[in-house]
Amino acid sequence: MKSGTSSTLTQRKPVCHLCKSESSDLIGERVSTAPESKVYRCKGCELVYLFPIMTQEEETAFYQAEWDAYMEKRAGPGWKSPASHFRSYQPEGERRLGLIRPSLLPEDRVLEIGSGTGYFLDDLRGYVTAVTGVEPNPAQREYAHQRGLKTAATLEELGPQKFDVICAYYVVEHFRDPVGTLASWRSRLNANGRMVIEVPNVDDILLGPYAIPNFAPFYWQKAHYFNFSRKTLKKVLDRAGYTSHLLPVQRYDLSNHMVWMMEGKPGGAGRFKDLFTPALEASYADMLKAQWHCDTVMAVATVR
Ligand SMILES: [Zn+2]
Repeated sequence: MKSGTSSTLTQRKPVCHLCKSESSDLIGERVSTAPESKVYRCKGCELVYLFPIMTQEEETAFYQAEWDAYMEKRAGPGWKSPASHFRSYQPEGERRLGLIRPSLLPEDRVLEIGSGTGYFLDDLRGYVTAVTGVEPNPAQREYAHQRGLKTAATLEELGPQKFDVICAYYVVEHFRDPVGTLASWRSRLNANGRMVIEVPNVDDILLGPYAIPNFAPFYWQKAHYFNFSRKTLKKVLDRAGYTSHLLPVQRYDLSNHMVWMMEGKPGGAGRFKDLFTPALEASYADMLKAQWHCDTVMAVATVR
């Protein structure tokens, strides 16, 4: 058998990761850079998932050989250079810090899984006892090291260490087995430890109510095996053995949404900042969050 084809051969029909139902609705026919994949919503539990997904071999090759170019194309120039990545993600680090800081204790030891160049850990380290990262990308990991941030390639490399807080921003949607992986992190948390997760919200207003034609083929991605809502992320965490509290978060501004409507493309953030008052921006974000049509779902979870 040709390598890299085994899992697609063994699983020919889409089956729900959560409830094992084979009954689903096809909700996305075009997936960015994965013409062979489609997006389904489980009729049993509403989990939204990609099928087929890359085999383990294809996935390993994808992250080694294609990931940086893929992200450079999506996120704009600067992704490949760790120094410019670190710089351009400063506002994102500050956004995360603003949300998590009220719940941090000075004695906390924090682990971030998927820490990239360490832009968030760098912001965090002044407020807690220790910060540690896990980042598989060698160039980003090396850059974090150079900035004095302890960063391992894998969790296993850290030995038996435990933490008070585990953070994972935009990583859970990439996992083949989110329930199994999240369950395995329980043993990494100290008593009273908590986990903070953010994922893209599949109930995003651009995808649902606005239904912008170009948005769905941009939003559905080859590397996002699952697309969670507050409801399905909660179910995944529940199944993985956590009690969780879900919070709506809006990262993109009104200008970004206007440009999607006007031009059908990303990158519009800040374009109308001279026209839109901070009060208007805040009010728009509040509406999206109140109706759970925001772009991000945040979960704070503790071991049950
Ligand atoms: Zn299901």
